[in-house]
Amino acid sequence: MGAYSEETLTFPQNNELATSPTPRLSKHVRDNVHGNIYLDPLALRFIDTEQFQRLRDLKQLGVTHMVYPGATHTRFEHSLGVYRLAGEAVQQLKTYQGLELGIENFDIQTVKIAGLLHDVGHGPISHLFERGFLPRVIPGSTWSHELMSANLVDYTVDEHNIDIDPEMLRRVKEMILASSEFAQTKNTREKRFLYDIVANGRNGIDVDKFDYIIRDCRACGLGCSFEFQRLMETMRVMGDEICYRAKDYLTVHKLFSTRADLYRTVYMHPKVKAIELMIVDAMVKANDYLQISSYIQDPSEYWKLDDTIIKTIETAPNAELKESRDLIQRIRRRNLYQFCNEYAVPKDKMENFRDVTAQDIVCSQKNGVLLKEEDIAVCNVRIDLTRGRHNPLESIKFFKVLDLPCHNIIVVIVWFLNRLLLACCAIVCQDYESNDKFPISDDRISHLLPSYCQDMIVRVYAKKPELVGIVSEAFESFQLNTYGIKAQVHATPEKKKRRTSGRH
Ligand SMILES: [Zn+2]
Repeated sequence: MGAYSEETLTFPQNNELATSPTPRLSKHVRDNVHGNIYLDPLALRFIDTEQFQRLRDLKQLGVTHMVYPGATHTRFEHSLGVYRLAGEAVQQLKTYQGLELGIENFDIQTVKIAGLLHDVGHGPISHLFERGFLPRVIPGSTWSHELMSANLVDYTVDEHNIDIDPEMLRRVKEMILASSEFAQTKNTREKRFLYDIVANGRNGIDVDKFDYIIRDCRACGLGCSFEFQRLMETMRVMGDEICYRAKDYLTVHKLFSTRADLYRTVYMHPKVKAIELMIVDAMVKANDYLQISSYIQDPSEYWKLDDTIIKTIETAPNAELKESRDLIQRIRRRNLYQFCNEYAVPKDKMENFRDVTAQDIVCSQKNGVLLKEEDIAVCNVRIDLTRGRHNPLESIKFFKVLDLPCHNIIVVIVWFLNRLLLACCAIVCQDYESNDKFPISDDRISHLLPSYCQDMIVRVYAKKPELVGIVSEAFESFQLNTYGIKAQVHATPEKKKRRTSGRH
């Protein structure tokens, strides 16, 4: 507990009191994104466990710090950030619509704990474990970090005898799974809007994204003009869903476009991908000996697996790990898989696109059989706005704020009443806001917004630097065979083709 500032040593012991902490009764940490984050007693029961502390050894962006050196932030601070924003979001709704929606302290605590624990089952090296490694060693694997988070929450509660209301625990797990394929689609669920705050399976706007977009931009030294505060301050539940002011359309759009930018410039950076491909190869080669994939079967083992697996491989003396170790050493010495080229799949070919494989490139080589599949790595990078080819804004509902002449006066009154009597405030708000909710199509806002919402980029790497020339040629002939044109924009640089040793 030494890391936290302490304002008092005595905490309420039961859940009833734990749901309504005041800053005076809470410990807090200072976060570099959100400032002070107050930790209520129930949250602390989870935080001070080895299962949650494991998040300190999971970098939020995996190996991205090898390219953006500042990106060393972890799932630990991200989880605290989501905890804080989840609490803020539901508190905001309670302030303006608490009576109408029946939001209780129980609900606030539930959403906060779901935010805190939503990533507790995340795999090592960011999404690589789940999307790169497991499919290679367990073909057809349906394992997901969300499901493991739910299992690990149960395990942590049992292991540490955490006194949490069983109904709250059930809902926390449901909220964690809400945007995954394991979500229980309960349209009749009471207060359904609460399940859209942490992981929004309905339209993708959630506090998880609010936190990681700001945090990742900051860590990588990139500007970010997306302001989640605008959305949090004015959102409103209509029917059973959270809706936004029509005039905040561009702010919502910016959420998704900033995320897509991060994908393009950071998460899918060609060198980040090269290192990821090498890490996956190293883990796959080490799997027989270290049985890395077996950890997923049991939460009591799983929490022991984190990013330090790379160090374990690197420093193990065993002969069985030599190939893996050599790959990690190549990363350390910056002798990376070499990027050869890439192209964006033409729009009219997206519909029937199937992932390009190393075998496709091998089959396209012209002069004899020189290349082997293991010489090549292919990356099929899909970037979208969270809803595939569909525009996520189509599934978001907006409302209009009526522009009454005495609007400013009403705002003052609302503010005043808000201070005095929140219940009255809710009624007054409804007087000057429309009760219609509606989607807005892009073309009604601007013709500058993209009309197509997905990019598919095929990228090819040579695992051995001396093969860049021949792999690039095979890749070009693959494009000609498939599309009748060279779809790549740039030629592979001659100096890269001539290179015979691998430093860049
Ligand atoms: Zn998250």
